[in-house]
Amino acid sequence: MSRYWSSIVSKLDPYVPGEQPKVSNLIKLNTNENPYGPSPAVLKVLHDEATDVLRLYPDPNADALRSAIADYYQIQPTQVFVGNGSDEVLAHTFQALLKHKQPILFPDITYSFYPVYCGLYQVEYVTVPLTNTFQIDWQDYIRPNGGIIFPNPNAPTGCGLPLSTITKLLEKNTESVVVVDEAYIDFGGESAVSLIQQFPNLLVIQTLSKSRSLAGLRVGFALGNEKLIEALERIKNSFNSYPLGRLAIVGAVAAMRDRHYFEETCKKIITTRERLAENLTGLGFEVLPSQANFLFVRHSKKDASQLSQALRRHSVIVRHFARERIDQFLRITVGTDQECDRLVAVLKTVVG
Ligand SMILES: *Cc1c(COP(=O)(O)O)cnc(C)c1O
Repeated sequence: MSRYWSSIVSKLDPYVPGEQPKVSNLIKLNTNENPYGPSPAVLKVLHDEATDVLRLYPDPNADALRSAIADYYQIQPTQVFVGNGSDEVLAHTFQALLKHKQPILFPDITYSFYPVYCGLYQVEYVTVPLTNTFQIDWQDYIRPNGGIIFPNPNAPTGCGLPLSTITKLLEKNTESVVVVDEAYIDFGGESAVSLIQQFPNLLVIQTLSKSRSLAGLRVGFALGNEKLIEALERIKNSFNSYPLGRLAIVGAVAAMRDRHYFEETCKKIITTRERLAENLTGLGFEVLPSQANFLFVRHSKKDASQLSQALRRHSVIVRHFARERIDQFLRITVGTDQECDRLVAVLKTVVG
């Protein structure tokens, strides 16, 4: 606290990101980054763009990227908003579309940035408990609300909802915006992008951080009805005209165009995930069904926090949330086969 702080700063309860260690010899399975590098096509355009042109501001509307994303999903560029990571897109969404008189709804166990944005923008919220098998029950959301937001697949559980369920929710909830945060959709989930023409209150948010291996570039986007996109543009142009730099724009365009590399890396991660799930089950872990690039697991006999510390001593880092209902779980990012084998070998010595 300081007397120079505004009253809002004193009241904030900021998000704590997963550790980004400064040493390089760790097996890093704690923040759901992609174990494979970005597409070679991305690295080439980044190199080509690193010239004197960087003295000039980038295109404030990032039109080339909006078009590349629109092409990928066969929608209009006016249905696309881009931002500096999907966290920024989410922040604008809370301010532009989720702040109303009634509280918004999101799961009790979900992306922990949502309550942080509510604190920042003073959005009222009510959390809706997951079922006892850690699933979202869409019928729990059918009640008056100022908006609904959830990740699909959910984080940190990895559990996904089928498109038919999201359709039912949208059919019943027409008076407020429904935001589907699809940070992990490319690892086996069903995207709701196909529903944006039909439902003017649906906003789908995605990121290039996970499935396109570009967490370090900071690019995310939202897809939805033009009027929703316009609201986000109005906030963006009242906040930062140039959220994406030249490198981010060209790199993201190349990433969206290289479908082959993207599909291959997603496939590899899904294969490794299934193999890792089997190995962990064999060691006595309960593994929630995952459609993401991570597994959420617990052991019937070993304390999660102690397991996480034991892994750490063996240079493997995973994420443990000391939060009610999930404090006996570990969230483990799917790495390469080799990294996952190392994790399993260490766990074998600890639980075996
Ligand atoms: C990783 C993640 C994000 C943020 O992604 P960035 O684009 O890197 O900001 C958003 N939502 C969920 C659920 C995530 O897990």
